[in-house]
Amino acid sequence: MCGIIGIVGREPVAGHLVEALKRLEYRGYDSAGVAVATNGTLKRLRSAGRVAELAAAADREKLTGNTGIAHTRWATHGEPSEKNAHPHLSGGIAVVHNGIIENYVELRAELEKRGHKYKSETDTESVAHLLSDEFKKSGDLAQAMREVCKELRGSFTLLAIHS
Ligand code: GLU
Repeated sequence: MCGIIGIVGREPVAGHLVEALKRLEYRGYDSAGVAVATNGTLKRLRSAGRVAELAAAADREKLTGNTGIAHTRWATHGEPSEKNAHPHLSGGIAVVHNGIIENYVELRAELEKRGHKYKSETDTESVAHLLSDEFKKSGDLAQAMREVCKELRGSFTLLAIHS
């Protein structure tokens, strides 16, 4: 069981996100990550180790964004590793996901045909690419998420932010 958290705040959220992940550690996980939107770009940190390592990296990097998402992963598709840790990125969008996308093989084949280059072995990365394509159409992340969910089979809680 993974942990998933998102914050839209009025002050830098990285510390709060990491603190929330610490509180979710009891659920078990194999890797952790965080992404914040800051000055029109996304900053992402991931660790194949403990949340404490992520916390140290977040301190070093001094993440300043006021909006962010974070995740502790319990791998179902793709080995536990930094490259498979969430958040996954595509076109200025970062995604974290709890659950399983059952039709990820078909989605990946279709998205690779459309030119997307995969960087992980996860079922989740397809959601990032789908969102990036939908966001280009509408410029509205909530609308893009609603459209993408129609294409997904399985069980999922998803959080996404745009740069
Ligand atoms: N199925 C996703 C993965 O393997 C999410 C797993 C989870 O819920 O942590 O990356």
